[in-house]
Amino acid sequence: MQRYLPCKQREPAVMESPKLIRSITIDRCSNFISGGANGNDINLLSQLYKARTNSEDHISLMVYSVPDLKRITFEEAVQQEFRPTHLGEWFGPSWSTHWFHVQIRIPLEFAGEEVHFIWNADNEALIWSMDGMPLQGLTGGAGSDARHDYILTTQAQGDDFIQFYVEMACNGMFGAGNGLIGPPDPNRFFNLSELDLAVPNKPAWQLLYDFQIILGMAKDLGPDSLRSSQAMYTANRIVNTFVPGDDSTIMTCLVIAAEFLASKNGDAQHEIYALGHCHIDTGWLWPFEETIRKAARSWSTQIDLMDRYPEYKFICSQAQQYEWVKTNYAHLWGRIREKIAIGQFLPTGGTWIEMDTNMPSGEALCRQFLLGQRFFEENFGKRCKVFWLPDSFGYSSQLPQLLQLADMKYFFTQKLSWNNVNKFPMTTFWWIGLDGTKTLTHMAPSETYNAQCSPEELIRSVKNHRDKEYSNSSLLVYGNGDGGGGPLASMIERLRRMKDVDGLPKVEFSTPIDFYENVERTTDALCSWKGELYFELHRGIYTTHALCKKFNRSSELLLRDLEMLASFAHIMKDQNYKYPVAEFEQFWKMICLIQFHDVMAGSSIEMVYDDCLQMYTKIDLHGKQMRDDLVDKLLGWENPIMSEEKAIGVFNTLAWPRQEILEIPLVEGLPSLAQNSAFGRTGYVLVDDIPPLGAKGYDLKTCLDFEPVKIHMDQSNNILVENKYIQVTFDKSGHLIGLYDKSLMREFIKQGERGNVFKMYEDIPLFWDAWDVEIYHLEKGVVAEEGSVQILEHGPLRAALLIEKRISDTSRLRQCVILTAISRRIDFETEVDWNENRQFLKVEFAWDILADNVFYETQYGIVQRPTHYNTSWDGAKFEVVAHKFADMSEYGCGVALLNDCKYGYSAYGNVLRLSLIRSPKAPDSNCDIGHHVLRYAIYPHENHFMQSDVVREGFNFNVPLITRVMSINQVNSLAKSVPQFRIEGAPNVVLDTIKKAEDSDDLIIRLYEAYGGHATARFHSSLPMKSIQQCNILEDELETVYEMTSTAERVDRTFSTNLRVLDDDMVDLRLEAQQKQHAQGALLKIKPFQVMTLKIKL
Ligand SMILES: [Zn+2]
Repeated sequence: MQRYLPCKQREPAVMESPKLIRSITIDRCSNFISGGANGNDINLLSQLYKARTNSEDHISLMVYSVPDLKRITFEEAVQQEFRPTHLGEWFGPSWSTHWFHVQIRIPLEFAGEEVHFIWNADNEALIWSMDGMPLQGLTGGAGSDARHDYILTTQAQGDDFIQFYVEMACNGMFGAGNGLIGPPDPNRFFNLSELDLAVPNKPAWQLLYDFQIILGMAKDLGPDSLRSSQAMYTANRIVNTFVPGDDSTIMTCLVIAAEFLASKNGDAQHEIYALGHCHIDTGWLWPFEETIRKAARSWSTQIDLMDRYPEYKFICSQAQQYEWVKTNYAHLWGRIREKIAIGQFLPTGGTWIEMDTNMPSGEALCRQFLLGQRFFEENFGKRCKVFWLPDSFGYSSQLPQLLQLADMKYFFTQKLSWNNVNKFPMTTFWWIGLDGTKTLTHMAPSETYNAQCSPEELIRSVKNHRDKEYSNSSLLVYGNGDGGGGPLASMIERLRRMKDVDGLPKVEFSTPIDFYENVERTTDALCSWKGELYFELHRGIYTTHALCKKFNRSSELLLRDLEMLASFAHIMKDQNYKYPVAEFEQFWKMICLIQFHDVMAGSSIEMVYDDCLQMYTKIDLHGKQMRDDLVDKLLGWENPIMSEEKAIGVFNTLAWPRQEILEIPLVEGLPSLAQNSAFGRTGYVLVDDIPPLGAKGYDLKTCLDFEPVKIHMDQSNNILVENKYIQVTFDKSGHLIGLYDKSLMREFIKQGERGNVFKMYEDIPLFWDAWDVEIYHLEKGVVAEEGSVQILEHGPLRAALLIEKRISDTSRLRQCVILTAISRRIDFETEVDWNENRQFLKVEFAWDILADNVFYETQYGIVQRPTHYNTSWDGAKFEVVAHKFADMSEYGCGVALLNDCKYGYSAYGNVLRLSLIRSPKAPDSNCDIGHHVLRYAIYPHENHFMQSDVVREGFNFNVPLITRVMSINQVNSLAKSVPQFRIEGAPNVVLDTIKKAEDSDDLIIRLYEAYGGHATARFHSSLPMKSIQQCNILEDELETVYEMTSTAERVDRTFSTNLRVLDDDMVDLRLEAQQKQHAQGALLKIKPFQVMTLKIKL
């Protein structure tokens, strides 16, 4: 029989201190790893380095300061003469560059140790090897993005000699301003305050990372959480165990930490896919030139981390930045390609830059994808599948369709977490675009693209995930960003520790594709969101920096003209003509670069807009010259046959016939015109039936018939203007008080209401000056009542009045209001001298129209938004974006408000406003001060907007006819000089773009359905077409929509005579069939808001 002895019972000790108090314990533990806390000289941070020296015996420093704020290459820099310098010296001013030659002799006593070079000058720097390889970026300061350490060696011999260069840029991570968005101070100087060789105490660092996680869990899991209590207890134990200066206690602390962190999760825990990332704003609080260096600093740092952490993955967008690095940093480019090849460095995004999607035209958005995807494919052998746009200010409803057409499947953002009215209700969902195309979309629930890898962010990722019922995973995008930088080693260290810790979601170093494919695999169904992703913040960006907006519109349309005309010249097989592929690509790259989200938004510093102006001027001057040359070439005007008698030639680059009143110079040889302009040197001509995409000449000998426009002043000093269609009344201060439509027999302005009212709003946003106009600005506006009016032109072709107004003590406005004999459209050519501080000028019209929605033009279509503030979602849209027009319609009629360079509108009830000029002071204190030239127009129309021709009128207003005075003997041959393309049977379809195919001599034609209805159209060409392929915007062929079915090639003629007769008959029949097929054109079935790209083989 076995005897059991009672074993000795182990019982808990009696605590000799009071029960832990949560708040006090957490504060105590926080102080343990805080640099600014009481006792920081003996807490864990005090133990991070075992040894440190800044002795000049070991570090010698020489500097070359580059004059004139120039940024020079490594090769240039190393040839300069360097002078000695030292710790504590100041360097500047802002934006200057200083190259340091650093020579290091490692102390003997550091033998066997890892040795770090420590550098802090409160600005940005890049370490270069002696042979010109960028090694790592350094970020000064004490913020969370600080990066002071560079690992010189992981095992020093002692007395090692190491040398390298440091390129110092005199700007911080966020430029050189005061506060985050203050305009740059040109005179900032930077102190080299830290310069050391140091030996890290590695166990202390390990404990720091462990402790950050344990403390984070204690703090952020909440007092009801079991794991929070356990974490707090563990953290407190570690503090009790640690003795400064006794490294053995650190080892014991590490054992305590490991015990806690070893507890694993259950199977159903949320899964986080962590992506290293570095958001570099391509231009913002620093100029583009500095962005090039930011990319080198940030990416070389990340390559170094990839070497040290094999599981680490980093994603990076924006082809433009890759191209800059490829051009300027050949060595680094080679390293990046190595890391891309092994899947650590992951190109993503698929666009040229991370663009604004509110204001670029449809074609410009297409070019972002075309330029981006082609770059990625050419350089890295594959396209991107994920459209990456974490920071743009609202997302166009056409993006899902465009993504699909750019061969992309997934969309990532997070910016809507910044909404300041409504919380966006979804995280992982189907985003359904204007045309019904859907894209799998995810908005990181951590609500940042600059995560720091704290437990709090992981906890937040679960808490804020609004679709976790359906999908149990999310993306965590970590790494310092906006100014660049990217992940720190400490972030990777923390993620390693948090991979599977009970209480926190599971984390994996991953790729975005893995995430989206996992959602597809594991999710049965997801909710959907239809239409635009309107951003409820930054609503001032549609207006800020007016000149940038103006050039954006004009450059896009100039390129439209240019590519079309060049395509015509190209297909006419003129041997002397070469389609200017390189020039057009350069133009588009500049336009796309400026469409970067902060630049297009108007929220960058003044230096950025100086650069934009240079680029735009180049496009404008060079582009217009090219357009003139092309028109001359196409119309045979290159070698004009001189004749005394003159006439005019007119070219229409729009795809519908036009009738207009043109203003032409009065030159010798022209017959006298029906009307000279008020200023004498020009006159007006009526032209009509100008063919679509074609030319017509006018000898001006006979004037076309028209009913004259009349203008007069009545007894109350009101001015009445009247043509065949409408009668318009302006009061004596320039307000529109009557708009009567003769065929509709109705007045558009209610008694007592009016239009063309200029209103100044006080515009003081809460913080983001250039970005935001806040909801309360609507409560504080003043109407510029006073004004004067006089008649400028009396008709018969064109009547005009001049309105002058003082809109404030410091700003004045002058406008010429024009009504022609032949149109309902009233144009307002406006100039403003603007000198304001945080004022916002809008022009408003109150129409007698009942409408719940306004129709706003967007890329390739229309977005409807409410005219009321019923819900918080409706009210949040108090300022919205539109392209060439917004339209208010009811049954039977409507009025469009057109513009040639503006993007902001607002509507409430029956009032529609166009936003004209703002005056924010940060980050550009001179923003929009000065002279403005802008045009808008009102266009009353028969029929509701949906049945109207407003879309065409928007184009007509923005795309003037190209006019030439020429010899009379040339005008008759004009019509035949260009190939004719036209679309028949579908007035709702717009032929938008004609260009040469990227990879062949075929022609690309892009068209779209503009109103939201199905269309059956016939596409006709004056040239015989072999085939038409429908393509995506990358010009991959998708399906054949037209093919010449019979060929008229002669067959073998070696047979008998009888057969030859038969053969000839066959050929004739085929020719006949061919002609018939050609005459019928190609049948196109187009869906509502569809963007259709056709590749035509001629
Ligand atoms: Zn950004």
